Amino acid sequence: MKPLLSGLALALSLACVPALAADTVSAEARALHERILTLDSHLDTPMFFAREGWDILQRNDTAPLNSQVDLPKMVEGGLDGGVWVIYTGQRGRTPADDLAARDHGLTRLVEIRELLAAHPDTFELALTADDAARIRDAGKRVVYISIENASPLSADPSLLGFYHRMGVRVLGLVHTSNNDFADSASTPPEWNGLSDKGRALVAEANRLGIVLDHSHASDAVFDQLIALSKAPIILSHTGADAVYEHPRNIDDARIRTLAEHGGVILVNSLGSYLIDTGATPAYREEVAALFDRFGGRANMRDADWHEFDRLRAELDAKHGLKQATLDDYFAHILHIIEVAGPEHVGFGADWDGGGGVVGMEDVSDLPKITARLLEAGYTEAQIEAMWSGNLLRVIRQAQAVAEAEAQTAS
Ligand SMILES: [Zn+2]
Repeated sequence: MKPLLSGLALALSLACVPALAADTVSAEARALHERILTLDSHLDTPMFFAREGWDILQRNDTAPLNSQVDLPKMVEGGLDGGVWVIYTGQRGRTPADDLAARDHGLTRLVEIRELLAAHPDTFELALTADDAARIRDAGKRVVYISIENASPLSADPSLLGFYHRMGVRVLGLVHTSNNDFADSASTPPEWNGLSDKGRALVAEANRLGIVLDHSHASDAVFDQLIALSKAPIILSHTGADAVYEHPRNIDDARIRTLAEHGGVILVNSLGSYLIDTGATPAYREEVAALFDRFGGRANMRDADWHEFDRLRAELDAKHGLKQATLDDYFAHILHIIEVAGPEHVGFGADWDGGGGVVGMEDVSDLPKITARLLEAGYTEAQIEAMWSGNLLRVIRQAQAVAEAEAQTAS
């Protein structure tokens, strides 16, 4: 059973709703949201695990750290868990860079395992699709582990086997620039999709039963993953080109192909992928320079974020940047459901990785999604499939493919 919602949280969710009528979370929607199993497919929160002063058991200010996920917010937002990310920013690709990336990935993995070890009554590692409901019913939060950007595997791709033994169940190949395995959606092509090393990694992920995640990779990588992967793939945090055309989003034809191959697209809420915020190249350059000034997102300390956020807000105001809203996020969600069908959609809002919109600032706002889906006419079974069942189905299929392969081999 889930722990019962506290009286205070319930009162807040029922009484303290903003003026927008659409975002009134009815008692019916709240109860449904509490009943179903809810997972987000891309939680960047492990980035905070080793930060001094940050505590997952305490409510951390959403601003200025942009800390959107912790236990109190998960309880308030009825989020049972998700896929927690080992994210490594892409640096150079020299042997020294590869070793630095290797160490970074392993360090983040250890930090996740340390968090699990420190809070065994609150969080539990999920290894199979069935684990999620069992962990939730035991009153704990579900922790699947994924990799975002395979660069920690560049020096030694066989490390994927070690990551698998340590619990990794999802693998995203690339981030915002090309690496040794695949082309990014955000840089000019180098491999025209996957490199030979990338193809080998895809085969190894299939062999281990690790789900392949296309988010951040180029369209050519998508086509090759569909052709190559023996198991369905996911897009752990991606939006729709038809709603807002952007290299990080995907077109309707590919969404249909994904669904035909049993895959799932989990919808991203990162504002500048949802709408045209009016960001000019000059603005982007200034933001990049600002990140550089602080040594990059991954290296920023708590104190840096306060100053960074202040300066970034100044830049946004100077350039008159528009902010995406929950309506904008929902436009992507409804479109993708219509194209893919509710059996192939989920939520990966890029929490703690740049996600969140006006009206849904952190995971405590998640019941609004369920309320809107209910209002749009989706059934409880469909809503639960989107909140967890579809993602779990792909995890189950990837593991079944690996087991079948192992039997053929033996
Ligand atoms: Zn990402």
